[in-house]
Amino acid sequence: MELKNLTKNIYNGFLDMIYKKKCLICGCSKTDDLLCKTCLKDVQFLSYFAHKFYEKIPIYSATIYDKNVKSLIQMLKFKHKKSAAKPLSNILFSYFKKLNLKDDYIIVYPPSFFIKSAQRGYNHMFLIAKEFSKLTDFKINKNLIKKIKPTKPQYKVKDRRKNIKGSFKINQKELLKLKDKKLLLIDDITTSGATLEEIINCFLKLNFNNITCLTISKTK
Ligand SMILES: [Zn+2]
Repeated sequence: MELKNLTKNIYNGFLDMIYKKKCLICGCSKTDDLLCKTCLKDVQFLSYFAHKFYEKIPIYSATIYDKNVKSLIQMLKFKHKKSAAKPLSNILFSYFKKLNLKDDYIIVYPPSFFIKSAQRGYNHMFLIAKEFSKLTDFKINKNLIKKIKPTKPQYKVKDRRKNIKGSFKINQKELLKLKDKKLLLIDDITTSGATLEEIINCFLKLNFNNITCLTISKTK
């Protein structure tokens, strides 16, 4: 990790300690969850059914990528604000609960390329998975999906798909251990669906389709 990022991480960790009970959005202290009721009200939850199917695999999205959810995701991804993982997983969990899915899942998430994680100092999706795992009691599997090449941010749907192709690899040994399990593939945002679809394709090639996808947000 770069020294600059390390210092930034320590500094933000320190700030997080002081402002532990303040709303990350408005700064008010009327909350224990880092997101006050007023700011939570601004979150636009989506309907409680799958918003898309890809190869018969349901993809649920909890909210619209807008306002407070957008701010929280950006804090976590770009501003080293690790504490934002907590309100984001709370949002994800409050949506997930209402889906009434009775299965016992294993949580997986799109990994980032090792250089990217090193630059940021953490994988933001792992932080969300960790919090979500505390809320659901589902176990996380960190080794099942590997990112084998970096992806640049792309804005056109066609480019995104091309760019992400061949980026992931499934650890087959790990998959064998999970043969009878159900996977809950979580992600922060879905735009074109390219990332999730690419990962699903990797699993389908290995004849595994016991997957449900759940994203915190979805772009309009
Ligand atoms: Zn607030």
